Amino acid sequence: MENILNTSLKSFENCVKCGKCLPVCPSYNATFNEFFSPRGRIRLIASEVKDELPLRISKFEQSMSTCLLCGRCADICPNGVKTGPLVIEEKNKFNKIKNERFSIDSFALNALKTNNRLMLSSGLRLSNIFKFKNLNIPKPSGRPFILHKDLRFTAEENNIADKNLKSVHIITEHNTNNAIKNINVGYFSGCVFNSIYPEISKSTISALNKNNISVFVPFSQSCCGLPHISSGDIASFKELALNNALSFKEKKLEYIITSCASCSFSINKLYPLYFSAEEKNKTKENERTEVLNFSKKLVDIWEFFSILKKKGINIKQGALNKELDAVFHIPCHLKNSANFIPISKNENLIGEAGSIIDNINGLNLKPLKHNYCCGNGGMFNMRHYTMSKDITKRKFGEIHDASPEVILTSCSGCMLSLKDQKNIENSKNEIPVKHLIELYDESI
Ligand code: SF4
Ligand code: SF4
Repeated sequence: MENILNTSLKSFENCVKCGKCLPVCPSYNATFNEFFSPRGRIRLIASEVKDELPLRISKFEQSMSTCLLCGRCADICPNGVKTGPLVIEEKNKFNKIKNERFSIDSFALNALKTNNRLMLSSGLRLSNIFKFKNLNIPKPSGRPFILHKDLRFTAEENNIADKNLKSVHIITEHNTNNAIKNINVGYFSGCVFNSIYPEISKSTISALNKNNISVFVPFSQSCCGLPHISSGDIASFKELALNNALSFKEKKLEYIITSCASCSFSINKLYPLYFSAEEKNKTKENERTEVLNFSKKLVDIWEFFSILKKKGINIKQGALNKELDAVFHIPCHLKNSANFIPISKNENLIGEAGSIIDNINGLNLKPLKHNYCCGNGGMFNMRHYTMSKDITKRKFGEIHDASPEVILTSCSGCMLSLKDQKNIENSKNEIPVKHLIELYDESI
């Protein structure tokens, strides 16, 4: 039995089968089948670990692979049962048994690992043809955000790239505020905001620059590894974690910022778990230290703005040209992000991103009744597109109830699912989907 599973053993033995987790689980709500519920998964895992039930591997795998790792069940469980890490361990076991030679999924995962735009583009095209049929994923266009000298910023002339083009330090022109000058920050893009929606990375740094914050961007950074671990490939996940930690090591950075909720979940929550003291025998001590240091410095963009506020540094107030009605979809992984205390007058509506909403004049936020999951779940929507679509459809139900002009969110995975409206709804009138940082950047 694996170490993490050992740690969680107590956790699954704590399940009293009360069923409180069922109403919050997206896969259960899409099927109303216990087999796809947290309680059902815990029951299956317990049986497998205790060798009680002769299980068909394919059935068992179906139950585990349809878990989106959204964390909603752990949030509500009165007994502290953590389904996510247990499911990951089970997926890892299947990976070893299957010893998969080639599949579209493994091709896409490898593409994410290399950060190679051509491979990523081919992976998505293949997925489009064989998996999603018409999924509205844009093919990576133009140049990726990192891996190229040209980062396409307005403050371009101020970019300082190292001689070998391994990193760039984007320095803002008006860096006169000493309090800000002394804050050294890096930017972690993540694979989707590098290759598919590079404009989000660009907007994030642009918004930081407009607030007089210079940003260090190493080109060797890669995917955070969430798609890999959610597919049970723990080895690749750990390889990517170490690569990312080493990429940011040379500069003495206080904070490393990301604008993707899934990346912050992976780095803040999963890196410490898989590089914990209990994993000592599997990882070199110095590598463990590097990854844990990196994890501690990683903050979501909203958390970073709230840190500035606590330091007495106010970010710029933005204003829209005209009033805009919007909803904010809270990504499951943003809700589970580390150490964030909402500080907004809108906190009951949108949680962590509240402070920034307060900073955009003209933005009218409308509440979402339930804030359902969007159905993305890392590789889940690639592997189980039909179930994913059903989950997204439910999300659109509550979105339409609020009649927004724009859907805002803060996660690359959520953007992919929410932008798939054509397939979800068969409607010609799509509601635009934006990352909140884009809107903030445009407003200042
Ligand atoms: S809420 Fe917790 S204890 Fe209750 S069934 Fe779900 S996992 Fe078990
Ligand atoms: S992590 Fe999410 S999808 Fe998985 S069992 Fe829990 S609630 Fe369901």
